Amino acid sequence: MPIISKVAQGECIKQKGSGYRSPSDIRWIIPHHMVAHWTAMFAAKYFLNNGLDNSVNYCIGYDGSCVCGLWEDYGAWTSSNALVDHYSVTIECSDTSATNYTIPEMTKETLIELMVDLIQRYPSLGGKAVFDPSDASEVMLAKKEGRLPNTKGNILLHKWTSGGTTSCPGQDMIDNLPAICAEVNRRLEARKTKIDKYMDALAELGDGRYHYYDGKAMGIGCSEYTRLALVKAGIIKEGETFHAASGNVGVLADTTRFKKIPWSSNNLERGDIMWSNGHHVAPHDVTSLKVIG
Ligand SMILES: [Zn+2]
Repeated sequence: MPIISKVAQGECIKQKGSGYRSPSDIRWIIPHHMVAHWTAMFAAKYFLNNGLDNSVNYCIGYDGSCVCGLWEDYGAWTSSNALVDHYSVTIECSDTSATNYTIPEMTKETLIELMVDLIQRYPSLGGKAVFDPSDASEVMLAKKEGRLPNTKGNILLHKWTSGGTTSCPGQDMIDNLPAICAEVNRRLEARKTKIDKYMDALAELGDGRYHYYDGKAMGIGCSEYTRLALVKAGIIKEGETFHAASGNVGVLADTTRFKKIPWSSNNLERGDIMWSNGHHVAPHDVTSLKVIG
């Protein structure tokens, strides 16, 4: 099913690229610059009609507009490196002008929001934006050797993926990336719900007494494990008690993310953590929840 970020206002699809990919494969974000002063739709139409094989997942205009040029579950051909692009979301960003390669403020703002949205939705991106200039040599070497790079960061430059044949995304974008990543990470942290913090804590505790659904740890474990995660997430304090009858399972229910909660007789509030009353919830119960967000 075509996946488009809620940050985009529309789509103008050019189905060129490496074809379908599992969204859980997405591990990099590659911001480009257009070398042009365009709106998102103008840029997407340019791609569509330029007669070339290139494509891009998103275009962001100088006015902050955002258009999907190829769905997220399809690899685009944007970065002179089909292999890396297959595992990346590529984003074309407007410049201030065709000769002034600074990023307009509104373009930057939308880029930040799109990055926040992608990192929230793809656990494979690692939970935060990391730009590490020292990845350059490994990305260039991997290109030469025809393999995927092992990077410390999840933001790559076209300059690297092309093997040095372009200066894209331009010096201003490169200079801005540390601040862009810091702002993305600040927003990611600020928007975490209790559920997110609890899931992070479970994943960090990682003793195997939980399993993954939709790439996130679900709260399957004994009450002590649950208690540890709650303390770690700052939801309860050490020594504080919580209700988990008969030492059984802590069940997470996030009504913003899951449409159908099997134990609907409970009165769930958005973002609540619900404790099942000694009722053991098996993994197959959890996977029957439907993802809506
Ligand atoms: Zn580029």
